[in-house]
Amino acid sequence: MTDDAAALRDAFRSFFARESPPDRVRAAETARPPGFDAALWAQAGTLGLPALAVEGATLADLTVIAEESGRALAPIPVVESVVAARLLDRLGAAGSVPAGALVTVAVRPALDGVASLVPAGAVADAVVALDGERLVLTHGNRGDPVTPTLAAAPLATWTITPAAVPLAVGAAAHAEFERVGDEWRLLTGAALVGLARRALELGVDYATARHQFGVPIGSFQAIQHRLADVATLVAAAGLLVGDAATADAASSTAVCRAYLAATRAARDAAGASLHVHGGYGFMVEYDVQLYFRRAAAWPLVLGDPASERARLADLLAADGWVPPEPPPSAFRSQVRELVADACTPAVLEGVEASGTVHDWSLHRRLADAGFLAAGWPADWGGQADPAAEGVLWDELERVGAPTDGWGTSDLVARTLALVGGDDQRGEVVPRVLAGEILICLGYSEPDSGSDVAAATTRAERDGDDWVINGQKMFTTLAHEAAYVFLLTRTDPDAPKHRGLTMFLVPMETPGIEITPVWTLSRERTNITYYSDVRVSEAARVGEIDGGWDVMRVALTFERNPTMIAELDRVLRRFVGWATTQPAVLDRPSVRDRLADVSVDLEAGRALGAEMAARSARGELPVVEGSMAKLFSSEALVRSCAALLDVLGADGLLARGAPDAPAHGELEAMYRHAQVTTIRAGTSEIQRGIIAERGLGLPRAGR
Ligand SMILES: Cc1cc2nc3c(=O)[nH]c(=O)nc-3n(C[C@H](O)[C@H](O)[C@H](O)COP(=O)(O)OP(=O)(O)OC[C@H]3O[C@@H](n4cnc5c(N)ncnc54)[C@H](O)[C@@H]3O)c2cc1C
Repeated sequence: MTDDAAALRDAFRSFFARESPPDRVRAAETARPPGFDAALWAQAGTLGLPALAVEGATLADLTVIAEESGRALAPIPVVESVVAARLLDRLGAAGSVPAGALVTVAVRPALDGVASLVPAGAVADAVVALDGERLVLTHGNRGDPVTPTLAAAPLATWTITPAAVPLAVGAAAHAEFERVGDEWRLLTGAALVGLARRALELGVDYATARHQFGVPIGSFQAIQHRLADVATLVAAAGLLVGDAATADAASSTAVCRAYLAATRAARDAAGASLHVHGGYGFMVEYDVQLYFRRAAAWPLVLGDPASERARLADLLAADGWVPPEPPPSAFRSQVRELVADACTPAVLEGVEASGTVHDWSLHRRLADAGFLAAGWPADWGGQADPAAEGVLWDELERVGAPTDGWGTSDLVARTLALVGGDDQRGEVVPRVLAGEILICLGYSEPDSGSDVAAATTRAERDGDDWVINGQKMFTTLAHEAAYVFLLTRTDPDAPKHRGLTMFLVPMETPGIEITPVWTLSRERTNITYYSDVRVSEAARVGEIDGGWDVMRVALTFERNPTMIAELDRVLRRFVGWATTQPAVLDRPSVRDRLADVSVDLEAGRALGAEMAARSARGELPVVEGSMAKLFSSEALVRSCAALLDVLGADGLLARGAPDAPAHGELEAMYRHAQVTTIRAGTSEIQRGIIAERGLGLPRAGR
């Protein structure tokens, strides 16, 4: 958010907080017409509403204002008046209404000259409506306020009079009406995001204060996890609205996606908050019901939200169903060219046969081209450009290149660069960046997975050396790695997090044994055993008993979600297959699913971009990282299941089977997707982080 936008937000937030508190919202509900506060409307005028819509405010500025009005449930027609003002200004028709007149828009076309349930229709002086082939401005024949309604809104039905002023005719009328609809969707989406954020706050506040069974209810995981899911949806919807507002004007697709995400976030946030309030949420006295009713009511003004899903599908179909190509750059072209050349079918077949998601020839080519260091600071030979790393991962995942070896090695190397000893920084890191060696992760044990700090693998002092004994589970790529980044316990008597020490142990050290483990995705991982493994002091990373500090750094680097790039690949493969089949892409159930995938894909992308942007600003985006990981992995699971089902019985056919749709890629991804919600911190662990560190809920009873 720019400084100007932040200033606008602060000004309108304090205005609405002061002038539109819940008491005034409630009072407006019983006013006639309902849902309108004329005094508040006059006050809003002093802040420039709706005039500023045509006096320099951008669409992005207006979303900021709409979000604040939604947050306060302000009983004034911010969205409709702003959209109408922009339209009249665009068409040079502002003079058709007297100064200060309240003009609204009928967002659904009129039928037989009647625009029904027009938002703000009960208080407007004039309405813009699509009447057949004409877009008109009508002043006459307003019906009575329609009451009662779900959210006590000033709705009324208007009959379009013969005196209505034509604003546009034919194709131009329809194009303008589409634009009105898009702007209304965008600003209503912003208002719904504001509503959702406040509804969530009400739920969090209540869950923090309310006690049951002797503890705050916000410490129950069932409550925490539901609110964490909602917080993630709301964050994603807010980012999509922001992106759509700044996208080029033609992006109806981005607006439709943002609107769908916002309608869902608002419904879910208000519903979850109501539920968290228990019986009290059902009492009229509690404010959450005000939010709950409007979360459903505002989108219903446009019609069944499911129709919007169908509309998004139409828009996607017009664009060929897949996201546009990323912006070209010299770096992307170089990476794409090299990956196309080096990631051959033989490489992918080798991965399939061995289960080892790494290929040395590809890896060395990436290193030789300097790509492995691309996202690293210049001191390490990198380009100091965080975007370069994103491009690299994007291009690798796009073709399904084997990247597990690079993933673990890079995160350990980054950790060593920050907290490693001289030898580790001077020798190991450069060898990683040169593509000479891999490093695997030795965290998980038979009895400590999510609770990784409960590791029991022992490291004991023996003279100047350390002697290590224990067992690690899921040591992926141990059979290819030169080192294992090994979490050990050095003080069994200290509190769990304090008695740990990290080591970087050469895999060739005597006493290490590797046993393969085969998984659901046919990928290979390993169990590693450590029997009297002797290493020198130089193998230690960080302080003795300071292993958790090292882990904290390493875990931050591990939450780099590649699942969205995988989802992009699945979608492209699916569409590639579907376009060769008769009528698949015409089936409404398929189109609906593709619309859902599209919303998930862009929401996950936005969350990932937010995390990356914060990292680039030098922040440690713990909560944003958890949201991106949680959302993207679960989106991948949902989408793979939905798209596999479309294949019907042919979805059974796996790689290598004759006629397997998309060469069995969807079947393979369906299996693979499951692990993305487990490794690098399960979904439940991410929800806990979001709930406690993001929402500030009390620590869960474990
Ligand atoms: C293919 C694969 C590769 C892997 N690669 C590596 C690797 O290279 N190195 C490595 O060290 N590890 C690796 N892992 C291990 C992975 O990180 C762990 O599987 C993961 O952290 C979960 O631990 P766990 O399997 O012991 O499950 P558990 O921790 O026992 O969890 C079981 C279930 O309980 C839930 N649960 C646990 N704690 C809580 C809680 N506090 N609140 C709510 N629910 C909870 C979990 O979400 C999960 O659903 C890999 C795993 C797989 C499957």
